[in-house]
Amino acid sequence: MATIDLRRLRLRPGEVRHERVDVHLDPFVLGGQRYEATPPDVPAELEITQASGATVFDLRVHAHLSGACMRCLGHAEVELDVGARELHDPDARPGDDLRSDYVRDGRLEVDAWARDAIALGLPDQILCRSDCAGLCPVCGKDLNAEPHEHADVELDPRWSALEDLRDRL
Ligand SMILES: [Zn+2]
Ligand SMILES: [Zn+2]
Repeated sequence: MATIDLRRLRLRPGEVRHERVDVHLDPFVLGGQRYEATPPDVPAELEITQASGATVFDLRVHAHLSGACMRCLGHAEVELDVGARELHDPDARPGDDLRSDYVRDGRLEVDAWARDAIALGLPDQILCRSDCAGLCPVCGKDLNAEPHEHADVELDPRWSALEDLRDRL
């Protein structure tokens, strides 16, 4: 686990420290599809500022994920650069905003935090390209490769319900 021992830092109020930690990203599962981080080990940059009372953690992490396009199931990639901030006061009570959920036993759990920050930063839809035409709701063919329409076929209502569902994933 990638963690930072906060006691080891011994920061005085006003002091700022930079740390770099490699985090391992297991595949993300979204809408039933797997998205692998390539490479799976990414550096997380941390800026740790000691304010009076609480410690401020600023995280920056960059990740590249690849998997299936949510519309056509072709290859899709996402490049993410996410930032997140946590505050931690060891004297605050559990559940308090000043007590970070990512600090346990005096250690900042950078991998769990980086993973959550990336998951929050993911787009609602992961697509091969923003204007991906998707699969034909009538015959299932890839509309990017074979743009076509079915002039006299009534759309089966079950398919349109599926379409709605897929658009919301
Ligand atoms: Zn696509
Ligand atoms: Zn078709």
